Amino acid sequence: VTQNPQQPEVNIGLVGHVDHGKTTLVQALSGSWTDQHSEEMKRGISIRLGYADATFRKVPGEDAPACYTVEEQTEDGTETDVLRTVSFVDAPGHETLMATMLSGAALMDGAILLVSATEEVPQAQTAEHLMALDIIGIENIVIAQNKVDLVDREQAMRNYEQIKEFTKGTVAEDAPIVPISAQQEVNLDVLIDAIEEEIPTPDRDESEDSRMFVARSFDINRPGTKWDGLMGGVVGGSVVAGKLDEGDEIELRPGREVEEEGQTEWRPITTDIRSLQAGGNMVDEVRPGGLCGVGTGLDPSLTKGDALAGQVAGKPGTLPPTREEFTMDVDLLERVVGDEDESVEEISTGEPLMLTVGTATTVGAVTSARSGEAEVKLKRPVCAAEGAKIAINRRVGARWRLIGIGTLK
Ligand code: GDP
Ligand code: MG
Repeated sequence: VTQNPQQPEVNIGLVGHVDHGKTTLVQALSGSWTDQHSEEMKRGISIRLGYADATFRKVPGEDAPACYTVEEQTEDGTETDVLRTVSFVDAPGHETLMATMLSGAALMDGAILLVSATEEVPQAQTAEHLMALDIIGIENIVIAQNKVDLVDREQAMRNYEQIKEFTKGTVAEDAPIVPISAQQEVNLDVLIDAIEEEIPTPDRDESEDSRMFVARSFDINRPGTKWDGLMGGVVGGSVVAGKLDEGDEIELRPGREVEEEGQTEWRPITTDIRSLQAGGNMVDEVRPGGLCGVGTGLDPSLTKGDALAGQVAGKPGTLPPTREEFTMDVDLLERVVGDEDESVEEISTGEPLMLTVGTATTVGAVTSARSGEAEVKLKRPVCAAEGAKIAINRRVGARWRLIGIGTLK
C-alpha cells in the first residue's frame, strides 16, 4: 500500500481494550504509514492523535465481500478501483490517554470496537469505551472479533455470544460482529464490507461555516533562517465542518494572551491560508476527514512548540465564543476509568477538574456544583459552542482519571 490517491472523507475511531489489536488492524489496512519520510508535519500530528489513512478498493467484476481490498493490484495484476479513503483514529488504549480518545470522539463519524476472542467479555476498557461511544452518541459501529486464529470454533462461538449479551441495550446492540485476524489478515474483506455498509461518509454541507480543531502548531523554519526566507507559522488538525481554501482569511480563537497595564486578555488572531496539506499532498482545499496542515501568514514565533494547540479556526466572525467559564450538564460514570474499585462521587464545589474540550485541555475550578450540573472557571479559556462534549477528569491519587462527560450549556 502506498500513497493514498485522495483525501480521507470520513474519520473512524478504533476503540477497545489494550492489546486486543487496534494498532495491528490499522497497520493491516493502511500499510506502513510511518515511513512517509517527507511528511514530518503530518507524521507529528498523526502520532499525537494516532491517525492513519487507508484507501478501500474493489476488484472489478468480483462479488462482495471478496471484492474488497486495500491493495492497488490483485495477485494476477488486475488494477483495483478506488472506493474511498478513510482516516482511522487509533484511540490509545492506555487509561491516562482516555481524554485524548474522547476529544478525538468529536472527530469520529463512526467506530470499530475491537474485541479479542481470546478473553472473557467485557474487559475493562471494552466496557469503558463502549460507554463513551454511548454517551457521545456515536451510532455507526462495527464490532471486530479479533484474534480468531488463536481460538477454536467453540471458543469463537462462546465469545460471540458474550459480545451479543454485553452489547444488548447499548448503542452497539445491532452492530455487525465480524470475526477477523488482524495479524494474519483474515476476513478483512468482510470487515471492509461491514464498514462500507455501517459507517457511510456523512452528508457534509460545504456552505456551512468552516471549522477546524487545531491539534498542533509548529515553526517549520530551520534555526538561523534569514527573515526574508522565513515561512509563516503552521497549524495542524482536523476540519470538522465546511471547508478551507487556499487564500481564505481565518480567525483563531481563543487567540493569544495580551497583557496591558497589568490586565491580561485573550484576543483572536487573524491571518490567511498560504498553503494546505491533506492526505499527504499539497492541496487547494480541505474538507472534513483526516488531518490537515495549514501554512499561515503568522509570525512563526506564535505557532512554535504547539502554542496554538487546542484552538479553533474558521472564517472571521463565525467562531463560537471564547469562554473563561461555563456551565455544563454532567453525566458521571459509575466507576473511575483505570481504577475500577473506585466509584465516582458527585462533583463538589471548589474541586479542580481537568477538562478536554475539542482538542483543548485545561484545568477548571468548580465554582458551583449541583446534581447533574457544574459551573467551572477555567485557567485557560476555550473556544467552544453550546452542546460541545467535554471529558471530565478528576485527580485520584497522583493521576487525573476520567469520571464523566459534560455537555456545554
Ligand atoms: P492494541 O493495544 O489494541 O493496539 O493491540 P496491538 O495491535 O498492539 O496488538 C497487541 C498484540 O496482539 C500484538 O502482539 C499483536 O501482534 C497481537 N495481535 C493483534 N491482532 C492479532 C491477531 O489477529 N492474531 C494474533 N495471533 N495476534 C494478534
Ligand atoms: Mg495500540
